[in-house]
Amino acid sequence: MSEKTSPFYREVGKEVSVFEKCFENRLPFLLKGPTGTGKSRFVEYMAHKLEKKLLTVACHEETSSTDLVGRYIIEGAQTVWVDGPLTRAVKDGAILYLDEIAEARPDVIVAIHPLTDHRRELYIDKLGETIKAHPDFMLVASFNPGYQKGFKELKPSTKQRFIAHSFGYPNEKLEAEILVKETGIEPGIAKKLVNIGNKIRNLTELGLSETVSTRLLVDAAKLITSGLPKRLSVEVAIVEPLTDDLEVIEALKDLSNLMI
Ligand code: ADP
Repeated sequence: MSEKTSPFYREVGKEVSVFEKCFENRLPFLLKGPTGTGKSRFVEYMAHKLEKKLLTVACHEETSSTDLVGRYIIEGAQTVWVDGPLTRAVKDGAILYLDEIAEARPDVIVAIHPLTDHRRELYIDKLGETIKAHPDFMLVASFNPGYQKGFKELKPSTKQRFIAHSFGYPNEKLEAEILVKETGIEPGIAKKLVNIGNKIRNLTELGLSETVSTRLLVDAAKLITSGLPKRLSVEVAIVEPLTDDLEVIEALKDLSNLMI
């Protein structure tokens, strides 16, 4: 283990051994799940555990293969080639994490294709070069399945190039433990926050596009441990980020006030 202390990650299923076996077998890994379910934290934890450098790219609709592979830049009177994060990871044997890969432009998927099968190579079209991946290079991506509006789908043919693991909400006991470990909050209050989270998660009739994530509960716990009143913390960390509908906000505030 490197000297830097490990990021805290509480295993929810069997994801640690699945990831380790993917690394051992040089297989790319896809994390599926809604926002705030610990996907990024898990990748940080695994990189630390495997003692590998981690490069993260937060993909958005403008992310192109050039952003990942590299580009020529002008330096004084010269043009110099600068490797992008994918090329650096491929050369150095690092873990490359493409967060929200489905948001990126289609040419990103084209660029990673030959890295996701037995070839394990990267074609740099601007240099006319093909490079073989370092034995320790690993490709990891996350994806928020498209059950809500506004999220892009990932093509089945791309999904099938990865080993995939779903991330969701931990059970009550685990989630309360995460809150305590992450923020130092009193276990009794952590339990109440988790209960509020689960109550709201079960209110499917509200039609929220995203429901209460572990992240929101952690945020509420942080505010409470730093001295903000409990009800106010729940309101601003959990209720308000979920919806802008004033009636729903009032209903959720009433509900959570009864529970904290
Ligand atoms: P995602 O990448 O899925 O959007 P993050 O990894 O950023 O989510 O997680 C959000 C926060 O939730 C983290 O900062 C951490 O506090 C907490 N968290 C969620 N799941 C876990 C877990 N299993 N172990 C530790 N912390 C977790």
